[in-house]
Amino acid sequence: MSDAERPARPARSEPREVVELRAITQRHPELADAASMHIELVELHRRIRGRVPLPSFALSAEILARHEAEARPLLRFEEIPLDLTDLRLMVRQIADVLRRFGALEHADYQRVQTLGRDMKLLATVGEWYRSVADRHVTAGVGVAAPGAAPDDDGGMVAQVLTLAMRPFLSRCAEVLQQRPDLGTWTHPHCALCGAEPDFAVITPAAERHLICGRCTLRWKFEPLTCPYCRNSDRSMITSFATSDGQYRVYACDRCHRYLKAFDGRRATRPVMPLVDSVATLPLDAAAMQRGYMS
Ligand SMILES: [Zn+2]
Ligand SMILES: [Zn+2]
Repeated sequence: MSDAERPARPARSEPREVVELRAITQRHPELADAASMHIELVELHRRIRGRVPLPSFALSAEILARHEAEARPLLRFEEIPLDLTDLRLMVRQIADVLRRFGALEHADYQRVQTLGRDMKLLATVGEWYRSVADRHVTAGVGVAAPGAAPDDDGGMVAQVLTLAMRPFLSRCAEVLQQRPDLGTWTHPHCALCGAEPDFAVITPAAERHLICGRCTLRWKFEPLTCPYCRNSDRSMITSFATSDGQYRVYACDRCHRYLKAFDGRRATRPVMPLVDSVATLPLDAAAMQRGYMS
């Protein structure tokens, strides 16, 4: 098709996530700052992600079965298609965005900027990656101690690394996501990188799929078992929905952590973790008010 035949496109076509974030600002002016910050994060992410090659790591039904049996995440740090220049750029620009919106203290900002210039950045990121991925191996068959501390143990620096690594890790998740045998993974931690879920989606078939807080992989998990401590006693799970039925919270009365879910059964769009994390900020406040933590 020549340029002349191409249908006219809007002057500026925005990613769907940005459109949704702008819509949140319209409906909830009190969330405007959070939405603006996430628009910048989405744009940063997209710019880098387009340059990340699809990774090639060994993947077969047999390999998946072995990792499932050992509860061992699939992706080794060395297999992530990392470009050091792009990683540095991400680390420093994510810090700039968070700082500008007041989400990063000055001391943490300085620490991250130094890290972004440091020759040892790769080693630091490797350590951050492995400390979560290897935890399940050392803990024995994939069981983190009940009530174990959340993954964001390392504080704000770890959160910056999570955002900075997302373009690279989500490319890896894309490969695994397409495998039908991902359905054999039964653990509450991510099959790819070993991190905890930090969001979930309820499918039209009423299954609950957990979404990894680090690489965004999605995998099926029992709908009423707490992924943080594996409590499956339904009388110890408090679940409530928003008035529009769009989101649901599962709070555990054993470990006192909660998980938010996007209810895809009545949705007009797919789940978008970055968008939905902003839209559900009032839900976080409600859950915390009831004494639960994320
Ligand atoms: Zn993951
Ligand atoms: Zn729990």
